Amino acid sequence: MTRNPDRNILIIGGGIGGLSASIALQNAGYSTRVFEAAPAFTALGVSVGRDCPGFG
Ligand SMILES: Cc1cc2nc3c(=O)[nH]c(=O)nc-3n(C[C@H](O)[C@H](O)[C@H](O)COP(=O)(O)OP(=O)(O)OC[C@H]3O[C@@H](n4cnc5c(N)ncnc54)[C@H](O)[C@@H]3O)c2cc1C
Repeated sequence: MTRNPDRNILIIGGGIGGLSASIALQNAGYSTRVFEAAPAFTALGVSVGRDCPGFG
């Protein structure tokens, strides 16, 4: 995908939502910059849950 410098998108927040949006937009040819307020990435939760009827 060719980058278009006129298609810059600023994303506020580097959580999973912001980072996912950034990746998707870059795959669509946009240039993105992610601004994150936190000084460092740290663990927030414990794990990704996978409870559903298929897991016994
Ligand atoms: C205590 C806790 C435990 C959790 N545990 C789990 C778990 O075990 N498994 C699981 O799947 N989910 C868990 N979650 C839920 C999961 O963290 C959220 O669903 C997910 O992080 C939401 O992603 P998001 O990108 O929408 O928001 P966030 O992850 O909140 O990301 C938003 C980001 O934007 C930044 N931001 C905000 N305002 C500004 C600003 N003005 N300028 C720049 N940056 C800014 C914040 O610093 C933050 O990094 C937990 C949530 C909490 C609160």
